[in-house]
Amino acid sequence: MDLYDVTIIGGGPAGLYSAFYSGLRNMKTKIIEVQPVLGGKVNLYPEKVLWDVGGLPPMQAQQFVQNLIDQANTFSPTICLNTKVEQIKKQDERFVLSTDSGEVHYSKTIIVAVGGGILNPIKLEIDGAEKYEMTNLHYTILGLERFRNKRVLVSGGGNGAIDWAVELLAVAKKVVVIYRKDQLTAHESQVEKLKEHGVPIMLNAEIQSLVSNRNKNAIEQVVISQSGEITSLEVDDVLISHGYNRDVSLTFADEIQPIRKDDYYLVSKGQCKTSVPGIFAAGDIISYDDKVHLLLGTFQDAVLAVNNAKLYIDPQADKCAMVSSHNDKFIEKNKELLKR
Ligand SMILES: Cc1cc2nc3c(=O)[nH]c(=O)nc-3n(C[C@H](O)[C@H](O)[C@H](O)COP(=O)(O)OP(=O)(O)OC[C@H]3O[C@@H](n4cnc5c(N)ncnc54)[C@H](O)[C@@H]3O)c2cc1C
Repeated sequence: MDLYDVTIIGGGPAGLYSAFYSGLRNMKTKIIEVQPVLGGKVNLYPEKVLWDVGGLPPMQAQQFVQNLIDQANTFSPTICLNTKVEQIKKQDERFVLSTDSGEVHYSKTIIVAVGGGILNPIKLEIDGAEKYEMTNLHYTILGLERFRNKRVLVSGGGNGAIDWAVELLAVAKKVVVIYRKDQLTAHESQVEKLKEHGVPIMLNAEIQSLVSNRNKNAIEQVVISQSGEITSLEVDDVLISHGYNRDVSLTFADEIQPIRKDDYYLVSKGQCKTSVPGIFAAGDIISYDDKVHLLLGTFQDAVLAVNNAKLYIDPQADKCAMVSSHNDKFIEKNKELLKR
């Protein structure tokens, strides 16, 4: 049995920074992430430029994720991708994590960093629509260039859809927004940008069917029903942003049920400790007064969760790690850096 000091469930910003910090604290660390890549929700907005992370120049989210991954790897944690943690139970003073692959992991402590759960985009409920996912039906935008000089239909009226519509204005030939309700629900300033650019916004409108090209492999036309009227629109690409279904199937055995808020969030008993000794939480999953659901909020949570995990294993340990300037772990690394 390979027993870890800390196992971090979720490889988003909270999990990645926890991995760095637990390495700094000499803990044998493992991250388990259900997706094939690390980075969490930030992978949903790879091209967005982040301005609001302290001390960093504005940078694209994909670069930010890469930086986080590099930092998490500083102390070489074990990383298990494509692995969903399904259940946590306690046996003989250690936690046992069962996963969808059948593999079982053992750990002295756990940091739950699963954010809002596993996010799956809500798909278009039209027969056969999935075949266009290979060509021009999208549920997210991985790169804007793909849409240069294209006519793009964006379906959705929330922040996700409207943010993308605004970003697309920089490259697309034409952007049209349709939304099933009578008012967009996105931030007003973003909606204003669309209006300033004269983007057609069709309200009370839904996609009724998709018409394919001659080769039957791409959408050529979208049939739209708007307040009972049927119209059709020629398109090059269709972006669906109807929100996400959350898979929140991570469960805890009866004897270690943490206190939750709204049936989901783990309530902090202070310092990112959950109500179960040995289980800590960081990032969007944790709930406490004044919690900031932003990237920078995940870092403070991670530090508290790791320090308390350390103290759980060794109550005599220092309460926190030495800062960079006094930490022996960086002496050699600093020499290498300064040489470059
Ligand atoms: C569109 C959008 C734009 C945003 N823009 C900004 C911004 O500009 N600035 C800012 O500060 N914040 C922004 N945020 C918020 C920021 O992205 C989140 O606060 C941050 O990602 C939370 O990090 P996390 O690690 O707690 O959770 P997440 O990023 O959600 O990561 C959780 C990880 O856990 C994994 N996971 C879940 N369940 C399991 C399981 N059972 N087993 C294994 N792995 C599991 C998930 O796959 C995921 O990788 C934005 C969010 C969105 C959606």
